[in-house]
Amino acid sequence: NFNAGPSILPQAVLEEASKAVANFNNSGLSILEIGHRTPLFESVMEEARSLVKELMNLDEDHEVLFLHGGATVQFMQVPMNLLDTNETAAYANTGVWGIKAIKEAKLFGNVNVVCTSEEKNFNYIPKNFTVPGDSKYFHLTSNNTIYGTQWHQFPKTGVSLIADMSIDILSRKLDFNSFDLIYAGAQKNMGAAGTNLVVINKNITGKISRAIPSIMDYRNHIKEKSMLNTPPVFAIYVSMLTLRWLKENGGVEQMEKRNNQKAELLYNAIDNSSIFKATAEKEDRSKMNVCFVMDDQTLEKKFLDFAKENNIYGIKGHRLVGGFRASLYNALPLSSVQYLVEKMKEFEDSKA
Ligand code: PMP
Repeated sequence: NFNAGPSILPQAVLEEASKAVANFNNSGLSILEIGHRTPLFESVMEEARSLVKELMNLDEDHEVLFLHGGATVQFMQVPMNLLDTNETAAYANTGVWGIKAIKEAKLFGNVNVVCTSEEKNFNYIPKNFTVPGDSKYFHLTSNNTIYGTQWHQFPKTGVSLIADMSIDILSRKLDFNSFDLIYAGAQKNMGAAGTNLVVINKNITGKISRAIPSIMDYRNHIKEKSMLNTPPVFAIYVSMLTLRWLKENGGVEQMEKRNNQKAELLYNAIDNSSIFKATAEKEDRSKMNVCFVMDDQTLEKKFLDFAKENNIYGIKGHRLVGGFRASLYNALPLSSVQYLVEKMKEFEDSKA
């Protein structure tokens, strides 16, 4: 299952989540029919938040929230909370998701797009740009799902760093404390659709004059320990199970090792092939979404049919890039990539 999102989850998580729908922790009730302010659910929320703190090695200033609405809500909630009408925020434009974040930020203040890779259909990560020191913050998309590019190094800009990490959250070791805000829709690398992880340095809140609706104000969510209103309980439960699985399997360090192995195997196969070609610049290739094409479009269609016949799911590329995209999230086993590579070779040999 190479789906880009919602995407593969560990089998153990699916089994545990199914059990909880029927009978949660031997309570005789489903996780779907208990109050969120019961000890049963409060312990789920607490465990999920503390696992994130532990796995990301967060300091005391960083708070962990599980909010509603997916990453798209953060495109708006970030500037609503952090950018005053007369202030300017710096944004990187590395593709569709960055563009959407820029559009929303413009509703609240000024936006300075400090770099873009648009002229090459976003197939690389911009370098050598400057972020003015008076920018309120600098926002980037750490991994670009559609184009298969990823920031392997984060620029030192001297301003507050904010990242949409929807794709590569918990997939590699990073100094997460160096970010003032990180957000990620759960449905790619850490759970089920319906919730959104927000990691926020609490010191950046409360610095603007705008009145913020209660449900949109990060300070209220921090104060209420992510229980301001009814949270998306099932999605948070699945995230908690996925975080437990991640910890049991060696944490972020082991995930990174496995992810490197998987990406290397697939990119090597593509680079050594005479019919498949990777689309992103080599140094900026994503370890999470591997995008590749063929010169011959009729052959592309044939390979998609062949993949389907061989039970390979979710490798059709996004329409803006075409070809194929294999997503290699944490839960995807190495054996799936080995199988894909075998089948690619088999297809290629049959066309020789
Ligand atoms: N950011 C990135 C990098 C994404 O890949 C996506 C979804 N594909 C989004 C944001 C939007 O996420 P959501 O649908 O959870 O709002």
